[in-house]
Amino acid sequence: MKVATILGDKGREVVTTNPDATLLDVVETLREHRIGCIVVTDGKGGIAGIVSERDVVRAIAASGAEILNSPASGCMTRKVVTCRVEDTIDTIMAKMTEGRFRHMPVVEEGKLAGLISIGDVVKLRLEQAEQEASAMRDYIATG
Ligand code: AMP
Repeated sequence: MKVATILGDKGREVVTTNPDATLLDVVETLREHRIGCIVVTDGKGGIAGIVSERDVVRAIAASGAEILNSPASGCMTRKVVTCRVEDTIDTIMAKMTEGRFRHMPVVEEGKLAGLISIGDVVKLRLEQAEQEASAMRDYIATG
């Protein structure tokens, strides 16, 4: 199974923001879209960073609620690990586990082409397991 399988199901739309947006804007966007992270773009279709709800919690714990009026660029992760449409799900699961993050932007020809979350991966794995169990039950019943 490949990243393309997940994108074919969920689509390629990614919620993004710009580096100057405040953390308050970021939090509001996360709430509005019911998501846990947002990709910060550089204005040319490239990725400048990523801000997850975890970054916001850490920033508030370290600096207090006033930090919400600061730009997202101050607390975003700049070194973003990305994947490609043709990567396997096993590869991205390994990268997420190793890097201890739950989101991976998909990049195609230097441009943002989707976002995979750990929830998408778990959903796909559960569907696969159910299909395999069902095929096994059919095999036993007709054997
Ligand atoms: P998450 O588990 O995705 O909510 O994020 C946990 C931490 O990893 C936060 O500091 C994020 O900014 C960072 N992070 C999330 N996704 C990535 C990624 N694909 N590459 C690098 N860092 C990431």
